[in-house]
Amino acid sequence: MNEHEHMPSSSTPCIECHAGLLVLRHITYFTWLGGELITVPNFPAWVCDVCGRRVYDEKAIQWLNMILDPNAGKPSTKPRRTPPLPRPRPGTHHPVSDS
Ligand SMILES: [Zn+2]
Repeated sequence: MNEHEHMPSSSTPCIECHAGLLVLRHITYFTWLGGELITVPNFPAWVCDVCGRRVYDEKAIQWLNMILDPNAGKPSTKPRRTPPLPRPRPGTHHPVSDS
């Protein structure tokens, strides 16, 4: 048996405008990850040729979430070294000149 996927085929009418057809295009996908804007070029998406509604491929989204998940892959070596700065503490070691 073939797998039943819940994906739009090559001739899926747009559910937004009911006039256009969703066509597979490769767009640049934008998503936010931890305060950073991630851009994914050549991302497959179904785009209505009339109203421009985008329907993303379910598998592509899963794949994207997998590679963007910091817990899924290897920990990336981020240059995040913040050595503790020696801060002078006021009032602890000042010479007492009381006369
Ligand atoms: Zn449409």
